Amino acid sequence: MQRRVVIPGLVGLMLLIASVRWWQASQEIEDTILQFHPPSLEQRLAAIGDIRDLSPTLQKAFTPGRNFLPMPMPGPRDWLAKYPEGGQTFNDFLRSEPNRLDDQRRLIYLQPIGDFATNFAPSLEKLREFTETYFTLETKLLPTLTIAADQVTTRVREGTERPQWLAADLLKLLEPQLPPDAYCLLGITLTDLFSQTTDTYVFGQATIKNRTGIFSFARFDPAFYDDPRPTDVKTLILRRSCHTLAHETCHIFGMQHCIFYSCPVNGSNHLAENDSRPMQLCPVCLRKLHAIVGFDPVERDRKLQEVYQQFQFLDEAAWIQRRLRAVAGESHRNN
Ligand SMILES: [Zn+2]
Ligand SMILES: [Zn+2]
Repeated sequence: MQRRVVIPGLVGLMLLIASVRWWQASQEIEDTILQFHPPSLEQRLAAIGDIRDLSPTLQKAFTPGRNFLPMPMPGPRDWLAKYPEGGQTFNDFLRSEPNRLDDQRRLIYLQPIGDFATNFAPSLEKLREFTETYFTLETKLLPTLTIAADQVTTRVREGTERPQWLAADLLKLLEPQLPPDAYCLLGITLTDLFSQTTDTYVFGQATIKNRTGIFSFARFDPAFYDDPRPTDVKTLILRRSCHTLAHETCHIFGMQHCIFYSCPVNGSNHLAENDSRPMQLCPVCLRKLHAIVGFDPVERDRKLQEVYQQFQFLDEAAWIQRRLRAVAGESHRNN
């Protein structure tokens, strides 16, 4: 009798100890998953992948050197503190079978939606020029689309008292409009956007499968938050708009958020975090874009430098100067 009592008691105690250990172990795993640790140099290089069989120029273009900053530890409000991500290496990207260029689909289309005729709207022609140079694909600007009230779910966001459009409704409107020669169709608007899964706002939303995205530049003018406009506000709005175009279009090219370097493809949880990210793609993301488009990286950088100088993006132009020195051995360019 005693045995029958003792043995189940011991088994029960052992089971209790085992389940406590299991609970502790699973808590440790959960803590590891929930806390983001910036990848080490070895992990960053592994994410770029094996470049030994590439041409000398490509090897230099995908070698980080001192021109790229590693991903910093996120602050408490930053994206990776809220949404820890595992990252997508170059090889993961290839395995995901992103949309390829083919003989038919080789163009990017920009579709302005709603009013862009305001004083502080980014120049549509400059956005077209940036997109064409950054992605090295011919980019066409479509005539501005006016949206009727019954075509999109609209709400007024408490706090800003400004109208917001449901991004999914705009995607549904755009998807049937994808031109037959489009690699992708990018809707852009100055109206704030929201999605069904967030109660605040979204900068954009895209579907890789349908090659379509919708991005809002509404929050890039400090006046949106009733903040004063700095003297260089037009350059600030244009830079933020170009940065968002780069980020969201990279998603349509099949790229997930970058966790390896400070990069425009990093997730971003607020405007200050967005502003802190550079315009230049890190070597992991540059190699992904190159796998789809196949550009000459030196030629791309030279053209980007001209665009940045023309747009008064002086930090970006200076960075390319340094990068061209490392990749192409160029000591000085005046234009
Ligand atoms: Zn994103
Ligand atoms: Zn990156």
